[in-house]
Amino acid sequence: MTHSLVRGLLATALSLAAAWAGAQTYPTKPIAITVPFAAGGPTDVVARTLAEAMTRSLPGANVIVENVAGAGGTIGVTKVAKATPDGYSLLVHHIGMATAPALYRKLAFDPLKDFEYIGLINDVPMTLLVKTGFPAASVKELVPYLKANAAKVSFANAGLGSASHLCGLMFMSTIETDLTTVPYKGTAPAMTDLIGGQVDMLCDQTTNTTQQIKAGKVKALAVTSPRRLDTLKELPTMSESGLPGFSVSVWHALYAPKGTPKPVIDKLVAALQGAIKDPAVIKRHADLGAELVSVDRATPEALGKHLAAEVARWGPIIRKAGVYAD
Ligand code: ASP
Repeated sequence: MTHSLVRGLLATALSLAAAWAGAQTYPTKPIAITVPFAAGGPTDVVARTLAEAMTRSLPGANVIVENVAGAGGTIGVTKVAKATPDGYSLLVHHIGMATAPALYRKLAFDPLKDFEYIGLINDVPMTLLVKTGFPAASVKELVPYLKANAAKVSFANAGLGSASHLCGLMFMSTIETDLTTVPYKGTAPAMTDLIGGQVDMLCDQTTNTTQQIKAGKVKALAVTSPRRLDTLKELPTMSESGLPGFSVSVWHALYAPKGTPKPVIDKLVAALQGAIKDPAVIKRHADLGAELVSVDRATPEALGKHLAAEVARWGPIIRKAGVYAD
C-alpha cells in the first residue's frame, strides 16, 4: 500500500470517528429545518409546529425554521442536499419532492439519492378557493363560468411543482380549460393577493386556508379529500361537486442530507415520533383539518418506500401533461 493511500484511509477513518463521536453528544447547537417556501404558508406551519415539538422531544435541542423560497421549492431543497451532513441542516418538504424529477429538466438534486430519510409527518387535504367577489358560489357554477371567461381568470400557485400547481393542473385538465397561472414564492403571499383580490383562484392546503375560510376572507368552493372534513363540514368534496374522482392530498416529510451519521438519524427519528404524539401538534393538526401519520410511517423505511412509489406514480402523469421547466 502506498503512503498516500494509507494517509487517505487514515484521514477517512478519523473523520468518520469524529462524526460518530459528535453523534453521541448531538445536538450541541441549533438545528435548522429549511422550508422551501415563504414564511406563513402551509409547509411553514407544519415545519414550525414540528420544530417546537422536536425542541421538546429531542433532549438538548433548539430546532429553528429557515425559509429558502423560490423555483417551486427546488432552491431550498438544493441547499439542504448540499449542506454538511451533520444533523444540523434538515428539510421539511411535501409531495413536490416526488414530482420535481419529472417537472424539471435540470435538477441540482436527486430525491432518491441525496437524502437520508427521517420519516413521514402528515397528510393534508387542499381546498379550492376563489376571491370573495368572484361570480361563482360552487364548483358547478364555476366550471361554466371558467369555460366562458378563461382569458380573464388568474389562478395563483407556489411555482412549478408546488402542491398548488399540481392541484391547479389537475383541475384545469379535468375541466379541459387553461387559465392564466401566477407563480409566487409560496402560498402565503398568494393568499395575501387572493384576499386582496389581485388574483382570482387558489388551491391550497387546509393548513393555510382553514382560518381564512372561517373568517370569510376568501370563498371556498370544495375540498379535495374523498370525504368532507370535520373542520369545514359545510364544504362539499370535488366528487360531490360534479368532478368525480378528483382527489389530492399533500404529504409532508422530514429529510437530512445524505451521509448524516446513523446515530444522529436515529435520534431525529425518535424526536419526530415524539413530536407526532405531542398534544400541541395533535391539536394543531385537528384544528387545521390535517392528519398526522401513524408512528410506523414516521420512519426512514416508510418514507423511502413512499417517496419511491410517488416518484414512480407522478412521472408518467406529468410527462403525459407535457409540463416541464428548463
Ligand atoms: N402550499 C404551497 C404549495 O403549493 C407551498 C407553501 O407555501 O407552503 O406547494
